[in-house]
Order: sequence, then structure tokens, then C-alpha cells
Amino acid sequence: MLCTSLLVGERWPVASKVLADYIRQSGVKIVCYDYEFSTVTGPHSCYCDRCLAAFREEAGFSAEEPLTPRVIENAHRTAWDTFMVRRGARLLGLMRKTVNEAGATFTVFSLPQSPRTVSVYGVDWREVVREQGADVIQIGTSGTWQQMLQSSEAAGSTPIMYGVWIIPYSPKHMIPAAVATRAELLRRVLDSTYGIIFYDRATMDGRSWWNVGETTRLVADFEDLFLHSRPEPVQGQDPEQVQWVRGKEKQLLCLMNPGNAPAYYTIPLPSGVANGYKYYTRASVSGSTLEITVPPHDTAVYVFDRQ
Ligand SMILES: [Zn+2]
Repeated sequence: MLCTSLLVGERWPVASKVLADYIRQSGVKIVCYDYEFSTVTGPHSCYCDRCLAAFREEAGFSAEEPLTPRVIENAHRTAWDTFMVRRGARLLGLMRKTVNEAGATFTVFSLPQSPRTVSVYGVDWREVVREQGADVIQIGTSGTWQQMLQSSEAAGSTPIMYGVWIIPYSPKHMIPAAVATRAELLRRVLDSTYGIIFYDRATMDGRSWWNVGETTRLVADFEDLFLHSRPEPVQGQDPEQVQWVRGKEKQLLCLMNPGNAPAYYTIPLPSGVANGYKYYTRASVSGSTLEITVPPHDTAVYVFDRQ
């Protein structure tokens, strides 16, 4: 551990050289910082006189205000969290620059944008983006879809990857295995702009791989749409479960049922859609309203020409 005021200040050239030398000598092309540090106890949480003086100045405390780790945790936690996520973001910005200059890509992994992520994991993605602290943002997924949307909003034009959380992490753990479902995979593919990540691949079983194949087959067939179009809401439908992906010539209507029970959808088709068919069964669409029951954790995808 090094005092963070020194690390992001006068001693950064020392740390930067060590980092750059390692990247050049090892030839790594991607450096990922798994940044999951409490603002109170993480490796960048320094309480030396320099750092406390910096906190005092940034948070606007008088010279008489007593500041100790215990006082900060009990009485000034919000101000300290803000101070620490800004310092962390500044450090990531310095690291990203060094990593890029050494010829590698810098990714930062943490959790979705939320007050808990700020406090427990020391990351506010808005600050990271402001400091240009990541070439790619990687988000683990113990969060809600709303938090994913907030993460995407914070990311702006910075590429973002969302994760699929596979448990157990270790083959030694005897808890029941979770499956990467088609509903979750399609949702992640729609929200990500740089591919998706899995944690952990070692315990993925055949069902997960099958679902990955079914999802990536769709992405491969409509690659241009997934690369260049962002999902859009469908009037009257839950946007977490029903989305349009529209390109110049083709458009996809994506239904994702994240629940444990079958879900029934009635969707009036707008004008401008033609020659519709169901992607996975190739059944053609007739009529002006779709009515479909989607099994638990499954998807349905309709393909239309755009007129
Ligand atoms: Zn310090």
C-alpha cells in the first residue's frame, strides 16, 4: 500500500514506470483492474496527514474539525465516499494512460452503478468516465436492470460489458448450479456494447453453453443490428422484457421472460413492419397483433423487414 496522495501525485511517475515496464516485458494486451474496494478499508484508503488534509480541503472541513478513521466512518461517511471515489477515478485515469502508452487496453471491473457500489466497492462510474479511467467498463451482475441502465448512462460512449453470474464459482462447491438462461443472455447482449462476460466459466454446464450458442447465433445473423442499433422500448410493454432493435432494413422484436412462470404477451404491431417470422421456429407472422406465451427464462424473437 502506498499513500494515495503520493500515488496520484508526485510519486506517480515511479509507479507508472513499474506498470509500463511490466506490460512491455510480459507482452500483455489487456490489463483489467478488478476494482472492488471499500472506501473505508480498501488499499487506496489512506488516513495519513497528507490524505486527511486533502479530505479536509475537498470536503470543506475547518482545521479544528477532528478527523480520524473512526470519526470519518461514523460521522462523515458520505463525504469520505465522494472523496475516495474521485481519488480512485483519478488513479484509474493515470493507469489507463500508462497502460495505453505501453500498448495495452485498460479495462475496469466492478459492480453496477448504485449507492452501494460507491460505498462498498469504491466505484462511481460517472467519476471514472470523467477521468477517462477505463477503455472498457466491465460490470458484474448482482444488480437490477435499472442499475444496468444507470451504468450505461454513466458510461456514455465508453464501451461497456455486462456479466452473467454463474454459481457456484468453484467445482468444489456443492450448491446447485445456476444456468445462464436465454432471457438473461439476450438481455445482456442488448445492453452491452462490447460483448459480455461470464463469471465463472469453469462451472458452466451444457445447458448454459447451449443457450450461449442460441443467443450468439442470433447475434451473428444480425450482427449489423447488434453493433449499430440500441434497444428501444415497445409502447405498453415492460422495457426490461420487450424491446425493438431496429436497423435500416431489418428489425427485431425481442421478448425476454426473466420470471419463473410462463409470461403472456399481447403486442399490437406498428406500421412499417412486413414479412415477419419467428427467428427460432421460422414460423411466419400473420395478423396485426402478436400473442405469445414465453416459457420461464426463455426468449422469443421476431424478425421483420422494415418498410
Ligand atoms: Zn496518505
